[in-house]
Amino acid sequence: MDLKQFITIVPDWPKEGIKFKDITTLMDNGEAYHYATDKIVEYAKEKKIDVVVGPEARGFINGCPVAYALGVGFAPVRKEGKLPRETIKVEYGKEYGKDALTIHRDAIKPGQRVLITDDLLATGGTIEATIELVEKLGGIVAGIAFLIELTYLDGMKKLDGYDILTLMRF
Ligand code: 5GP
Repeated sequence: MDLKQFITIVPDWPKEGIKFKDITTLMDNGEAYHYATDKIVEYAKEKKIDVVVGPEARGFINGCPVAYALGVGFAPVRKEGKLPRETIKVEYGKEYGKDALTIHRDAIKPGQRVLITDDLLATGGTIEATIELVEKLGGIVAGIAFLIELTYLDGMKKLDGYDILTLMRF
């Protein structure tokens, strides 16, 4: 299936000059959402994943159905102040500014094998911070899966040495 046909490119959003890749038109198509999820599940199956981790909010959209299919848990990575219990924090720079991401301190046990998911790789800041959170807790990043990679932003350079799946490239 050609998944790219389900991505809507929105010019000048959230600000001028950005060509935003809208994944909601993929998600609201049952067949396409199912196909994309299955591709990530297939990739993850041989990696003996213990837990799936995804940054808010679109990392939940592709990560949760993958965790469900694998029969493992999902641990959310969220902006500072959103998680209710003890967290660890990493600060990072992103395409549209600066931010901090957090994860519950007990979300991953040392030695657990983790699949990280997000909808899109742009500059790589978000995923780099998510990797750092997982590794600080002693997790092993066994794989990273994106729906989309923006190749012109070189985010992949930050992910040297990691096992990565991307379903679409723009
Ligand atoms: P990065 O940290 O790699 O620069 O940016 C990636 C993060 O920003 C992802 O979590 C992603 O959800 C969001 N993002 C940046 N640009 C886009 C875009 O064009 N489309 C979508 N769906 N998300 C984007």
